[in-house]
Amino acid sequence: MPKPHRPTVQAPGVHHFAVGDILVTALNDGMFEGSFGLLAAFDAPTAERLHQETFRAIPPKLAVNCFLLWTADRLVLVDGGCGNAFGSQLGRMAGWLRAVGVAPADIDTVLLTHMHADHVGGLVDTAGAAVFPHAELVLHEVEAAFWSDEATLAGAATESEQSSIRRARTTLAAYDGRTRRLTRGEALAGVSILPEPGHTPGHSGWLVSSGAASLLIWGDIVHLPGVQFTHPEAGMTYDIDGAQAIPTRRRVLDMVATDRLAVAGMHLDFPTFGHVVRQAEGYAFVPEVWRPDI
Ligand SMILES: [Zn+2]
Repeated sequence: MPKPHRPTVQAPGVHHFAVGDILVTALNDGMFEGSFGLLAAFDAPTAERLHQETFRAIPPKLAVNCFLLWTADRLVLVDGGCGNAFGSQLGRMAGWLRAVGVAPADIDTVLLTHMHADHVGGLVDTAGAAVFPHAELVLHEVEAAFWSDEATLAGAATESEQSSIRRARTTLAAYDGRTRRLTRGEALAGVSILPEPGHTPGHSGWLVSSGAASLLIWGDIVHLPGVQFTHPEAGMTYDIDGAQAIPTRRRVLDMVATDRLAVAGMHLDFPTFGHVVRQAEGYAFVPEVWRPDI
């Protein structure tokens, strides 16, 4: 009898969470190695101490997640991960879609939280063509306008900012003619947009509701869970308007804690689902406990 091979990778980065009749599947796109220097208006040594005390990675690691919604009549992707934008450690979403039996042509709708490269990189191929041939792209009106604006490109200080803007524009071009821009209300039955401006001008969460159950997929409200739950005042250098991103984070954390609303996030630790509770200092994240049945 041959011996079994010792595993070298985790079981699939796929986790299901039921919201009433809608099934939400988290897909892990990989992890970034970051740095405490990414924090804005927050002391890096204090952030490192918080990570040390809570057994978190130093330097910090950020999960990148996307979500698949299985509604009564549609298959919906929320954000597209990194694709090939950040090397082979990221861009795993496409493999997990295959693992759950979904082909790119099966996706009816792609909802975007915003247009940073770790959210749209997987939506276009290296030739700039749409990866999801039948999908309608839905995003906040202000987000589409910001990345399309010539002034945004002219104001980009670095090559990496310029390349991020070009990628956003390539994405909008690839889905031209099948893009819907929203400012409020439902994108489709049971899924509404929640504007959360600051990280980017049109950054938005998606509120999924079915019967009495709800889930807020909040995009990039939190990048570093080990720091920003206890210290919501900690910003990120990625925030386009840091002065607006901080009160937006406070407002969303206050809302989900008060309403006991389940949340999921693109940079929350996989499998990302949980609740937010108030504590003596700021907030704490309470992860959903794994169950064998959905
Ligand atoms: Zn992000």
